[in-house]
Amino acid sequence: MPFLGGSALKEAYRRAQRGGYAYMANNIAEPNTFIGLLDAYSEAMSDLLVQISPGAAKFAGGGDKLAGMRAMCGLVRELAAKRPMGVFVNLDHFTTKEMDLIETAIRERLVSSIMIDASDESFDENVRISREVVRMAKGSGTLVEAELGKIRGVEDEIASDDAFYTHPDEAVEFVNASGADLLAISIGTEHGVSKGRTIQLRVDLAQAIQTKLRAAGLDTPLVLHGSSGLLLHQVKDAIRYGICKLNKDTHYQYVYSRTACEFYVKNAAAIVPPAGVEDDVVDLFSKSDWSPNKKLFDPRVAGRAVQERIKWIAGELLAQAGSAGHAQAIEGTADAG
Ligand SMILES: [Zn+2]
Repeated sequence: MPFLGGSALKEAYRRAQRGGYAYMANNIAEPNTFIGLLDAYSEAMSDLLVQISPGAAKFAGGGDKLAGMRAMCGLVRELAAKRPMGVFVNLDHFTTKEMDLIETAIRERLVSSIMIDASDESFDENVRISREVVRMAKGSGTLVEAELGKIRGVEDEIASDDAFYTHPDEAVEFVNASGADLLAISIGTEHGVSKGRTIQLRVDLAQAIQTKLRAAGLDTPLVLHGSSGLLLHQVKDAIRYGICKLNKDTHYQYVYSRTACEFYVKNAAAIVPPAGVEDDVVDLFSKSDWSPNKKLFDPRVAGRAVQERIKWIAGELLAQAGSAGHAQAIEGTADAG
């Protein structure tokens, strides 16, 4: 299936709410992680939600965020086309600094949803900025995620040193005033690695927020940031109380680097010259009897190992979210109701 837009994503969340499962929202910044994700989600027949942060766009664009955003969205479109499931793209933690990119993404229909993060601002300013993005997205089908409550930790250029929890009454007021399609709430996770063993995950708060929203006639899908490191029972509890999207970035970063690290440590002798051999990279060891092994230093060899391991961890994580077997290609789009 091709890349799928916001209306299909809206329906996917609605079905997840009814079916008691959720989607992992998986950050990508380069092809290896994305290909590993595609393989895992194809096999599980789950639609795949990937997300691109401003930092990832900047990285992919060699410093040019706009070029990087377009390039990554192009990569997603091309590689998704022949897969059996659909692929959604979310812009993750875009801020007032990226308003021109948000405008471009909406105009060029590059993405399925956009997260506008003004959670560092006052309540009123957060509403105003989020509502502005909702207004920009109107009529395009692109969904808008906004965040209320600060999430501890560092993610790209957003740093919040004092975590505070989302207030249920404010959540209702915020969704009504901003018109956001999805609401990211702060219930105790941290950006980076949330140590599931030690954090105090306030699922009671997620439940209270869901209850208040429903009482106000809103069935807004809730989003949990900083989900890397959560334990299975915490993921299940979060889903039970309305979390439809769990953001995962750090977990893939670790598995990526761990795999590359093990590969290069194991194969160091085939890549790095031994003692006594001149370290002549400029002449590529032409003057020496020793040669590095191209079968091992070709970056695609380690890259394939990374893709395999990402596929493995993505399969584990999507099983936690419960999205396997729910691809729109299987379930169809008839029950939009
Ligand atoms: Zn986040």
